[in-house]
Amino acid sequence: MLYLSQNKITRLEFLKVFGVSSASLLAPGLLLSGLSSARAQSSYSQKEAIIPVTIMIKPDVIKLGSGDNFGSIVVFPENYNIADVNVFSVRCEGAPAVDKIIRPNLRSIVFLYKSSDLRDDLPGGYSVEFTVSGKFFDGVLFEGSDTVSVTGASRGVIYHTSTRKRKSCNACRSHAVNKIFSSKEAADINRAHRGCNCGIVKEEIGWQYYIGALGQTSKGGTTVYDKRWGWPPPLPVGVSE
Ligand SMILES: [Zn+2]
Repeated sequence: MLYLSQNKITRLEFLKVFGVSSASLLAPGLLLSGLSSARAQSSYSQKEAIIPVTIMIKPDVIKLGSGDNFGSIVVFPENYNIADVNVFSVRCEGAPAVDKIIRPNLRSIVFLYKSSDLRDDLPGGYSVEFTVSGKFFDGVLFEGSDTVSVTGASRGVIYHTSTRKRKSCNACRSHAVNKIFSSKEAADINRAHRGCNCGIVKEEIGWQYYIGALGQTSKGGTTVYDKRWGWPPPLPVGVSE
């Protein structure tokens, strides 16, 4: 429950993310929701040079070209002091943080970015990985990722299994060549067979093929497309090559 609570964004933060002046809304108790600290999810070992942080990107859909702002909630591990974070070092897919909200009780900082600052070659799709990185004042790096839906790009990112560098059966080889998925999770759940240990890789395809195969809604029309149904996929009405 505590971990899930990190997903919540206060009204003030929401307004700030969406570019609304928030000074007049600042009220005691609003900035800090009073929740006790949650443990950052960490699967890294001590010897890793980069400190893993938990990232949540808000809102859930980023519209490229809209001029909208977006935010990342960054939750730091227990043994790190958020006062030691060099906020000027923080980047998200090429975009520098332009503002911040520090939440000491949650051991987290909300960083705000302009979507127009995102790297030019960022792909769209229903599950696009956004990595946030930065440094503490002592030079130690921190990094973490979340996935978010991105619209308005010229290419879309799809996921599929790969039999590369693995002994594989015919089922896995056929699956890897034919089935594409909207997210890494979907590719993992829908493997060729139980116990399949194929890797999952991502690939970028033209946006018209992306929506032809996986649908046009920002949340994803379908999670899987089989190229044996037709490739390139039939383009949606009104969309040209
Ligand atoms: Zn497999």
